Amino acid sequence: MPNPLQGAQFVLAAHRVDQLPADRGVEVAFAGRSNAGKSSALNALTGHRGLARTSKTPGRTQQMVAFSLPPVTLGEGRPPLEARLIDLPGYGYAKVPEALRAHWKQEIDAYLHRRESLRGVVLIADIRHPLKEFDRMMLDFCFHRGLACHVLLTKADKLSRNQAAQSLAALRKGFPDGMHATAQVFSSPDSLGVEEAREAVVRLLQG
Ligand code: GDP
Repeated sequence: MPNPLQGAQFVLAAHRVDQLPADRGVEVAFAGRSNAGKSSALNALTGHRGLARTSKTPGRTQQMVAFSLPPVTLGEGRPPLEARLIDLPGYGYAKVPEALRAHWKQEIDAYLHRRESLRGVVLIADIRHPLKEFDRMMLDFCFHRGLACHVLLTKADKLSRNQAAQSLAALRKGFPDGMHATAQVFSSPDSLGVEEAREAVVRLLQG
């Protein structure tokens, strides 16, 4: 199957929401705690190895990064819409000073509440430690704004199949009632769940 996210390109890195590309078209945000595997997942989904920098360069992960995608058409006869992925700063990176942490909490909050082109969030969580405080906060934000959320439980290669399935089931049970939330297991090195995740992103963009 051709990759619908192929052709993603770096557009810009921003320190504030108002530095992001114009708020039109549709976009999906990627969020997660530092080291959860967000950059690896972005690279696997777009099929572009060097697109998002992995944790070897943590400074880069302390920005909001916009990537353009091929335009999305939401129905016959309608004009194609600009489409983007937004890589939100990794949350909880240990060496980040408190003031910067507070800055990002505020910017992520502003972004999630006000960004009109935002169609959904992909939440990246290590399958061995899902639903930490940050992940619950993200689910809560999405729930209250009526935004769809798709959770990638990464590093599934670190668990047996059975353990991974149990972790997925436990996560799904924890979703707030009535929330538009979906989840899957994922592994970057094993390319596990890559197509499923691509389809989820496309669904969010079209939502
Ligand atoms: P980020 O900080 O969330 O962007 O995380 P990275 O993508 O940079 O990954 C953090 C570390 O976890 C790196 O050493 C990756 O090689 C590793 N990693 C990422 N995804 C996976 C995965 O699915 N399985 C395993 N075993 N390691 C992973």
